Amino acid sequence: MYKAPVEEIAFTLKHVAGMAQAIDSGLLGDLGEDLVEAILAEAGRFATEEIAPLAEIGDRQGARLSDGEVSTPDGWRDLYRNWAAGGWNGLTAPEDFGGQALPHMLNVAALEMWNSGSMAFALCPTLTMGAVEALNVHGSAALKEKYLARMVSGEWTGTMNLTEPHAGSDLGVLKARAERCEDGSYRIFGQKIFITWGEHDVAENIIHLVLARLPDAPPGTRGISLFLVPKFLVDDDGSLGARNDLYCHSLEHKLGIHGSPTCTMIYGDGKFGGEKGAVGWLIGEENRGLACMFTMMNNARLAVGMQGVAICEAATQKAIAYARERTQGRAPGWNGSGMSPIIDHPDVIRMLLTMKALTQGSRAIAYACAHAIDMAHRAADRREHWQERAALLTPIAKSFATDAGVDVASLGIQVHGGMGFIEETGAARYLRDARIAPIYEGTNGIQAIDLVTRKLPLSAGGQIRVFIAELKAIAEAVRSSNLDGFGTTAERLEAAITDLEEATDWLLTRLTRGQSAEALSGATPYQRLFGLALVGCYLAKGGLARPADRAGEGRIALCRFAAENLLSETAALKDRVVNGAEALAAAHSVFA
Ligand SMILES: Cc1cc2nc3c(=O)[nH]c(=O)nc-3n(C[C@H](O)[C@H](O)[C@H](O)COP(=O)(O)OP(=O)(O)OC[C@H]3O[C@@H](n4cnc5c(N)ncnc54)[C@H](O)[C@@H]3O)c2cc1C
Repeated sequence: MYKAPVEEIAFTLKHVAGMAQAIDSGLLGDLGEDLVEAILAEAGRFATEEIAPLAEIGDRQGARLSDGEVSTPDGWRDLYRNWAAGGWNGLTAPEDFGGQALPHMLNVAALEMWNSGSMAFALCPTLTMGAVEALNVHGSAALKEKYLARMVSGEWTGTMNLTEPHAGSDLGVLKARAERCEDGSYRIFGQKIFITWGEHDVAENIIHLVLARLPDAPPGTRGISLFLVPKFLVDDDGSLGARNDLYCHSLEHKLGIHGSPTCTMIYGDGKFGGEKGAVGWLIGEENRGLACMFTMMNNARLAVGMQGVAICEAATQKAIAYARERTQGRAPGWNGSGMSPIIDHPDVIRMLLTMKALTQGSRAIAYACAHAIDMAHRAADRREHWQERAALLTPIAKSFATDAGVDVASLGIQVHGGMGFIEETGAARYLRDARIAPIYEGTNGIQAIDLVTRKLPLSAGGQIRVFIAELKAIAEAVRSSNLDGFGTTAERLEAAITDLEEATDWLLTRLTRGQSAEALSGATPYQRLFGLALVGCYLAKGGLARPADRAGEGRIALCRFAAENLLSETAALKDRVVNGAEALAAAHSVFA
């Protein structure tokens, strides 16, 4: 069973992601290390003792639709209410609406634990948090007054309605319609698919944020508006009124996250009688809906990255426990009687170390991204720098961690042997759940395009160059530490950073010359190369900050393993970036 790794999370936050420095410099207000540890400990307890035990039943029962009502798995309704009563939904939300205005770093750490407990369950609050942010930044005072406090408390949940059957990665072609009404409200019509927690029984009301197009809107992405459309209309005194003209038509049958209802939503077909059209209110300005969504994109993408980290952690814990118990064969140097535990076989150790390195590395990348988001809000004198850093790290945090989630969950099954393929072990669920994360919230291919075409050019390449200089300083610190335990870590890090630098220069040159096809061909290998270099550097940063004890030695040993085993891939990835485009373009004929 999953046990939240509270100490490891606290260590990564403080010593790798930059929280200790932020506390020391007073940027996190009254928040001190004691309070951070207390919050993490309680979140860890809730995830371990309350959420994780209900994950399996959620997977087995799934969400069920009957007469338009969706019921969640047994126990989830109380679980959600207890979770919300703990105040967890409002960790980062504004104090004016009942939130705690705590740093994002703390929230992503908590999100990791909720998702390790059950990714399907954690999706519900993840969507609500995104809706709260969009409403808080772009909503009118009246909308905020009416809805925010009850969304912050978790009493009402939120959703994001973007996708339509023909509009997924390309939202510019979406067709949902909005019509203006004389009283300032709008009527919404259309179909949305794949809407996470679009209908359920855990909360009294569901506040849908829906992208739709006004009749006179310009075509493409510049003609999309964002609307708040509640399941139940809310009276002026805050009580729930009539049912709005929207409903869940069907639930998807999915590979994983069975407990999370993935809904086809119908707006405005008059199912409940009366005038047709779901009543909605504009968020932000007309035709600026996509820009509103982009405000919260960094956080939402990072939240999905946390799903990857969470699955990595849970799958690794399960595999280590199994490998300690399962005995087969005799490992080299085994002196005991009978068979040795499989954890003593070099190939099993290799798998477990790979899983652990990817877990800790992904966690560090994601927390560093959250740190940058916090600094962008709090470090007034360097706001632009930190905004750019958060923007640069977001696609890497999302894509690397979610790919790692799939790889680590798959390795977890391998460690279990045949039992990994059998559902009763629980290892297979991690892989089934993990598989969606590289797809939604912008596929990892779309993240790579974003990284290369929008993030590398920030400050004319200045942001990425400053970042690479910081990574070089970490490698230099490893070199000058002269610690034997690091082995050839310094050299390996330097080589990986050089690969990153050369690939970056190549891509920036192609972009400057307008050779976007060449640049895009190498975008995904570049994204992975970047992630791997960061894994090496952040594990080294943790190794340098380690306590001088056995756990500290283990930290250095893991860093060395990653540097000497995983980082050699960066050379091949750089080669694919700079030399792969021509062959890729020529091979189009394969599908002619
Ligand atoms: C379980 C689940 C939950 C979801 N939850 C929500 C939700 O709550 N709200 C919501 O609005 N949506 C949700 N989605 C939808 C999800 O965000 C989309 O599936 C995702 O954005 C991809 O869109 P698509 O499925 O249409 O794939 P497509 O856009 O058709 O992509 C197919 C493939 O083509 C690639 N591709 C597409 N365009 C390009 C391009 N320009 N360049 C290079 N490659 C490209 C993609 O990377 C992908 O590999 C959910 C989906 C699922 C399965």
